Amino acid sequence: MRHGVKKIVHFINGEFVPSTRIFEKRSPLTGEVIAEVAEAGRAEVDAAVHAARRALRGPWARLTLAERSDLLFAVADGIMRRFDDFLAAEVADTGKPVSLARRLDIPRGAANFKVFAETVKTAATEFFEMATPDGRGAINYAIRQPVGVVGVICPWNLPLLLMTWKVAPALACGNTVVVKPSEETPQTASLLGEVMNAVGVPPGVYNVVHGFGPDSAGEFLTSHPDVDAITFTGETRTGEVIMKAAAVGARPVSLEMGGKNAAIVFADCDLEAAVEGTLRSCFANCGQVCLGTERVYVERPLFDRFLVALKRGAESLRLGWPEDPETSMGPLISHEHREKVLSYYRKAVALGAEVVTGGGIPEMPGRLAGGSWIEPTLWTGLGDDTPIAREEIFGPCALVMPFDAEEDVIARANDNDYGLATAIWTTNLARAHRMARSIEVGLAWVNEWFLRDLRTPFGGAKRSGIGREGGVHSLEFYTELKNVCIKL
Ligand code: NAD
Repeated sequence: MRHGVKKIVHFINGEFVPSTRIFEKRSPLTGEVIAEVAEAGRAEVDAAVHAARRALRGPWARLTLAERSDLLFAVADGIMRRFDDFLAAEVADTGKPVSLARRLDIPRGAANFKVFAETVKTAATEFFEMATPDGRGAINYAIRQPVGVVGVICPWNLPLLLMTWKVAPALACGNTVVVKPSEETPQTASLLGEVMNAVGVPPGVYNVVHGFGPDSAGEFLTSHPDVDAITFTGETRTGEVIMKAAAVGARPVSLEMGGKNAAIVFADCDLEAAVEGTLRSCFANCGQVCLGTERVYVERPLFDRFLVALKRGAESLRLGWPEDPETSMGPLISHEHREKVLSYYRKAVALGAEVVTGGGIPEMPGRLAGGSWIEPTLWTGLGDDTPIAREEIFGPCALVMPFDAEEDVIARANDNDYGLATAIWTTNLARAHRMARSIEVGLAWVNEWFLRDLRTPFGGAKRSGIGREGGVHSLEFYTELKNVCIKL
């Protein structure tokens, strides 16, 4: 092992397990190798799935609902006790500003366990009384039971937050899990294994295997015949592959996938709030948020003023070390991803876009020069039919376009394969309701962006997803609902 380079291993059946195969994890900040990560082959995935299967029938199954719920509260507290370790691991893997991870990633990772520990205790099931020809009648009641071993495939943009968004409800419902974190962000998933052991979650309930997608841990897990259900967050193309794998054995899938989200700014908006919200939705987490905005439609009378304010905001973002309190934007996750984003930056120019700000790679000082930094970028001058307006770029960039009429902007916003989220900025209440109903998405914000009540449904329409997670909606996926009919 090289000096200063961490070793990240699998977590199987309550133990930390290495592999003979390893891969390097590089810092998005500097490009330097920061970790050597074990890569799971079929054998490790098999061991994890079997551990999860055994655990399903072990002491875990005998816990009462209240005991299971208490244990998940303990997991949440355990994360908060190790807050600084989780923060350091997440920031090292992603390069995101400490201020962001401290406010969002780590507390939400813990909160996910609390909200689902509470949800399962309070969720009701149905009861129906029915008449029968003999006059004695019958009753029906429904019970929720675990689906079994759940395969959890995660992305790199909000690693702990999005992983626990699935693991917490899965465990709350009594399932066991095998998690495959993104190869870009392996650390916090393994760290969570330490918390699980510390608070007494039985071995095999929570397992982690590291590796890549195709011909690696991801594919081995999703094609494993003993996995009962698969929940995935990531690109739509990957989701399609996973859905095919899940078709073998007709296993249920929950898919949270890509977006090409529109912000719609009416001339009657609260300008300050709309600019602030749109800046966040375009540039938070270096634009690597599935809910983020990459199309901004602005009503024509406000267009010039709004663009000036957005440009000023983009240019005031500070790129730098995560610990620096002045830093407001980190790098992209990797050089590979930067190459993808830059290909769109080049395409925009080739198509005749006007670059309002940004458009390239910033000059970073010292060791940061080796990182995958990119400039926050705004364009105008392209239409809805270009790849810049149609395809998910997943970077800190947006195409800003004017519109004239409400019906026109509804049609344009909806003319896209994706349907994840939208942010509507207006002070006209009737219009806010009309717009929220008309835009084809799973999540519509009015005069906000990213405000989340974890009890509410979360997911995408069209190619952005299948199913909803959040609150009682997660129970739909993570449990089998069984009807019991009793003749009286
Ligand atoms: P990705 O699809 O490249 O990878 C996601 C995960 O799938 C990784 O763990 C990867 O190793 C694994 N994987 C890849 N190929 C696989 C295969 N053939 N079989 C099994 N597993 C495989 O996505 P990403 O680049 O990590 O994340 C960014 C994407 O995620 C964006 O499209 C973004 O919009 C989307 N996203 C969606 C949501 C949402 O809630 N809808 C949230 C965050 C991110």
